[in-house]
Amino acid sequence: MSQSNDWQKLADKLFLNTVTRFPVTLVRGEGARIWDDQGKQYLDFVGGWAVNSLGHCHPALVNALEEQAKTLIQASNQFYTVPAIKLAQLLVENSCLDRVFFCNSGTEANEGAVKLARKYGKIHLKGAYEIITTYGSFHGRTLAMTAATGQRKFQDPYTPLPGGFVNVKYNDIEALRRATNERTCGIMLEPIQGEGGVNVPDDDYLKKVEDWCHQKGILFILDEVQTGIGRTGTLFAYEQYNVEPDIMTLAKGLGSGVPIGASLAKEHCSVFSPGEHGATFGGNPLVCAAAYATLKYIIDTDIPEKVNRLGKYFMTELETLKQQFDFITEVRGKGLLIAMEFDREIAQDVTISCLNKGLLINKLKPNAIRFVPPLIITEREVDEAVNILRNIFTEKGREWTK
Ligand code: PLP
Repeated sequence: MSQSNDWQKLADKLFLNTVTRFPVTLVRGEGARIWDDQGKQYLDFVGGWAVNSLGHCHPALVNALEEQAKTLIQASNQFYTVPAIKLAQLLVENSCLDRVFFCNSGTEANEGAVKLARKYGKIHLKGAYEIITTYGSFHGRTLAMTAATGQRKFQDPYTPLPGGFVNVKYNDIEALRRATNERTCGIMLEPIQGEGGVNVPDDDYLKKVEDWCHQKGILFILDEVQTGIGRTGTLFAYEQYNVEPDIMTLAKGLGSGVPIGASLAKEHCSVFSPGEHGATFGGNPLVCAAAYATLKYIIDTDIPEKVNRLGKYFMTELETLKQQFDFITEVRGKGLLIAMEFDREIAQDVTISCLNKGLLINKLKPNAIRFVPPLIITEREVDEAVNILRNIFTEKGREWTK
């Protein structure tokens, strides 16, 4: 038996059973490429779940990590450390938000956002505590974020869920209006639903939500964990919708693979007092140095503009495939957050065929796949991915259309 199989068998015995893995053990990455322990190379259009914004092992990130690892890795947050301050400054200078709390994941960033909104509700909204979120959303895996996430499959195994969340239809302003009452302290949305299907709302949806929040005096919270840090073609997706969130959360691409999350807030709702919220590792010097290097590179080299251009090119190429193969029903997304939908449940087959041909993609739903490559991919790499897809659709198309 190969060593690879031994590792995989051991993993299946050791880990709690939370995910079905492909029989591939990854060992090394560079740029948009990743290699398994058999030496097989893959073009990575999953990017560690939309995380590796600078691709794998980018020199800017690796250098920052090396330098900081030699200097200071962790300190308790009762002391000041410079990497966190520099990162917070860069975020604030490049967004509409004023203050930052650092944590370790997107889920935790959203927990922070919800706690901040509840505290705001206690102070300014007569104790209002409810947050309205939408069906098809994804906000994370803690019990509270499972309640926030409007998808039954994540909720049902864990009922009863914490209260204080109301799920309504996405892209439906009337549904939000109807659900708002004296208990509501905020509305939390993804600008584009990522895990829920890469669902792009109407152009004016977010503006209407922002107006409604202002009218009611409640907080407008955007979960930009997936859409933020250049993914959709601007540094933050809200910029494309002419809105400004009161609270925004980030994670994924912020550290390009180093685990970091952030809850950002405007001054008027920065209502935490010392001791009310915290995280042992949150904002530690190592991850903040890595995230600073990532974000600085993304801003200085105008990666969002490249994402915008390349995303349009990729969409056009995928549209061409859609014209060619009638089982493709839709291509949708923004920047490098793109989904392709089929009229039948072939996503698993497509994903495995891509894997065999050296392309990593993500099965989003039984009938849809998603592309979230590193933001540094090139036009040639897009062409390579599209060619692999075209070959698979040509070879398998006859079987699927039988
Ligand atoms: N919010 C959004 C929009 C996400 O896409 C995700 C993860 O996919 C999360 C929150 C949860 O982030 P994490 O897995 O880092 O906790």
